[in-house]
Amino acid sequence: MSNRKFSTSTFQDIIIASLLVVLVIVAYNYYSNHFADSPSQSQVSETFEEKPTKYGFDLNENFIDFAEIRPNQFLSDILQYEGIDYLKITEVEKAAKDIYSIRRFKSGKNISFVRPDSCAAPTHFVYEPDAFRYVVYDLGDSIQVDIKEKEFEKCLDVATGEIKSSLWNALKDAGQSAALIDKMEDALASQVDFYHTQKGDKFKIIFEQKYIEDKPVAIGNILGAVYTNDRGDHFSFYYQDDEYDGYYDYEGRASTSAFLRAPVKYSRISSSYNLRRFHPIKKRTIPHYGTDYAAAHGTPIIAVANGVVTHASYTRGNGKYVKIKHDKTYQTQYLHMSRFASGIRKGTSVKQGQCIGYVGSTGLATGPHVCFRFWKNGKQINHRREIFPPAKTMKKEDLPKFFKTRDATYDLLNSLDYVKHDNTLTEGVTT
Ligand SMILES: [Zn+2]
Repeated sequence: MSNRKFSTSTFQDIIIASLLVVLVIVAYNYYSNHFADSPSQSQVSETFEEKPTKYGFDLNENFIDFAEIRPNQFLSDILQYEGIDYLKITEVEKAAKDIYSIRRFKSGKNISFVRPDSCAAPTHFVYEPDAFRYVVYDLGDSIQVDIKEKEFEKCLDVATGEIKSSLWNALKDAGQSAALIDKMEDALASQVDFYHTQKGDKFKIIFEQKYIEDKPVAIGNILGAVYTNDRGDHFSFYYQDDEYDGYYDYEGRASTSAFLRAPVKYSRISSSYNLRRFHPIKKRTIPHYGTDYAAAHGTPIIAVANGVVTHASYTRGNGKYVKIKHDKTYQTQYLHMSRFASGIRKGTSVKQGQCIGYVGSTGLATGPHVCFRFWKNGKQINHRREIFPPAKTMKKEDLPKFFKTRDATYDLLNSLDYVKHDNTLTEGVTT
């Protein structure tokens, strides 16, 4: 048992180390069809113009400054100081109540003020609740409050590396990199035993990274990966069309397992399964039988495997939650949803990857996340330590289409070095 754990964290060390070392970041024109679907078309190089706007305001015609909310400071004091009169503040408070109340503003964060020029009173102010959204408070005659999604850019990132014994030391911060490890384990689940990795094993991964304002905020799909050990090269390719959505090996055999590891596509692990965790709300040590995935409010939550919904209900602790029975052995549970997806109720059959609800913070939750719980034979286990059975294989007549996608990714993988240096993707991408 201890052996298993040891090798896993080794593997995690390696990935993290190489993420730090390597990495070409490539701007990449992405819509729902990524390059693999149509290699020649979408290899568009984009020129990024510096647009002089912020929060949708033209900076040639507006001046934007900001104030930090300090602990114990009254919000109305800040707003008045910035030139908004008391009457207006009460109007804003009323208008914002059901959209994004100004009482939810937190100390340590900034409020930005939009003015016609640096001396004038603000026409708008803006608050960013998280990395993904901002709220605009329009101070015009009729107050308007709007929550807006920030624009993001999806880029391809590359992680490559080699397993060395010197990298055996602690994995401390799981964060974003843990999400990549989950995805890589998904992608190569049927081919590589990640509990028995060895010194000298090598890997290359091409994956999507979501950026907001040049900061990486979440990991998307792995488009291709190769893992080389003493048994040779093991490839995995992401493929999606009307019928298939998953990872396949070089020959088109399902490479992923019957269970996905994460219930949200773009997320980071904010709290792991931990039997001795200090509970942030209850302020004492309570085992955490789940894995928390933080994601923006409203992000789709997906079923990690085929199954039947046994619960779509509410409790004070869990908030809105869904529980799915997959087979005789496994059940999964998804907590703190803001709402269920339409049609999700007791008895509904769901497919792997199907949206069953949306991220929220109902029940006992400090912020928007999914607490994901994995049940095996009636007990809650750490799913990140579990080896799952493989998924279904592609039909023969569908192979030629898959091969086209595969070859494009395969060429990209081959163009990368295993270890650092100048890993420039030569085709279809601009650096
Ligand atoms: Zn949790």
